[in-house]
Amino acid sequence: MKDRVAIVTGGGRGIGRAIALAMASRGAKIAVADLNAADAEAVSKEVESLGIRSIPVVVDVSQEESVKELFGRVKEEFGGVDILVNNAGITRDALVLRMKEEDWDSVININLKSVFLCSKEAVKIMAKKRYGRIVNIASVVAFMGNPGQANYSASKAGIVGLTKTVAREYASRGITSNAVAPGFIQTAMTDALPEDVKEQMLGSIPLGRFGSVDDVANAVIFLASEASGYITGHVIHVNGGMFM
Ligand code: NAP
Repeated sequence: MKDRVAIVTGGGRGIGRAIALAMASRGAKIAVADLNAADAEAVSKEVESLGIRSIPVVVDVSQEESVKELFGRVKEEFGGVDILVNNAGITRDALVLRMKEEDWDSVININLKSVFLCSKEAVKIMAKKRYGRIVNIASVVAFMGNPGQANYSASKAGIVGLTKTVAREYASRGITSNAVAPGFIQTAMTDALPEDVKEQMLGSIPLGRFGSVDDVANAVIFLASEASGYITGHVIHVNGGMFM
């Protein structure tokens, strides 16, 4: 990955931070794109401490103008983009009967529309270079469903369809588009769940542990590297066997 340029959305913490650091440790220059300026700045500094060039960019991935500014800034700083990791995501959980329309909309916009907006900007640049790696972070709930997560599971299932369509549309330009579907990964997003829910989930994981952010980053690294050049439209499940 040496000297490749990567954008990691939601790179300011959790899984995105781990992906940014893992790619940097393999030589990729990193744009840490996050809604939270302080987090993006902090991760960008961590990357630079590895001796790798990095910029923090504040972005709202659900807003077209903001996404265009992100890609403009990265192009200006690094001259292009080789790797896009669409990782930013949120949850707004409630049972369908109680789910507010605004919570449906914000999850669909931040988790799914963002992947469309960022992929659109990325392929414009990657197609000219005839090289690109797009890796989208989906979720096991795209395949299993999950009570309380109608908006989230629909957004993640949407990502899987979008991943495959982008793969078919841009394969001829040397761009691959794949997804990683994590199971239960220990981050701020999952720390917030009640203990009994966590225990119940642990019981459904054959490998007997929750995943780490590095478990996810390892799969992303493969799909973002040259080693995965003959793989496109694929989903790698990183879930300890809870769905197979
Ligand atoms: P996290 O700790 O909540 O981090 C998400 C990051 O995305 C935060 O830095 C957040 O910024 C940023 N973000 C939120 N909205 C944004 C927006 N509109 N524009 C730009 N950045 C935005 O989450 P995580 O657990 O690392 O999850 C990362 C990805 O993995 C998500 O797509 C999630 O759905 C997926 N995933 C996670 C798990 C899990 O078990 N943790 C399982 C399956 C899939 P703020 O700090 O400002 O909110």
